[in-house]
Amino acid sequence: MAGEPQADCLFCRIVAGEVPATVVRESATTVAFRDINPQAPTHVLVIPKVHHPDAASLAAAEPEIAADVLREAGQVVLDEKVEDSGYRIVFNTGAGAGQTVFHAHAHVLAGRGLTWPPG
Ligand code: AMP
Ligand code: ZN
Repeated sequence: MAGEPQADCLFCRIVAGEVPATVVRESATTVAFRDINPQAPTHVLVIPKVHHPDAASLAAAEPEIAADVLREAGQVVLDEKVEDSGYRIVFNTGAGAGQTVFHAHAHVLAGRGLTWPPG
């Protein structure tokens, strides 16, 4: 069923506490943790606790939780004090766009110059 935990999903396993992560924020519906392979001085992932394969699927099925993810990403920006220097919130979607974990997640990137367009 949509939203149910998937035994073979890395981020469901982080939500369940079965895989360790450096958690920086948690809400009733989301977890935020540092990316294991940071691409910028601030690189935090914000995920819904429910499993959906990508951000658009999450927004279609549970729009209020998609909003929670964005709100928590905004709180990460405040916690990391990067709102003035600029930041990027990214949802890679599909293998062709670099998605490697098929559980919706927002990347919050900041702390260095971020070129546009991204590669
Ligand atoms: P994406 O490539 O957009 O699907 O993003 C997946 C992200 O998850 C990558 O930036 C990885 O570095 C990160 N990642 C993979 N395994 C872990 C882990 N165990 N803890 C934290 N981040 C991870
Ligand atoms: Zn999952």
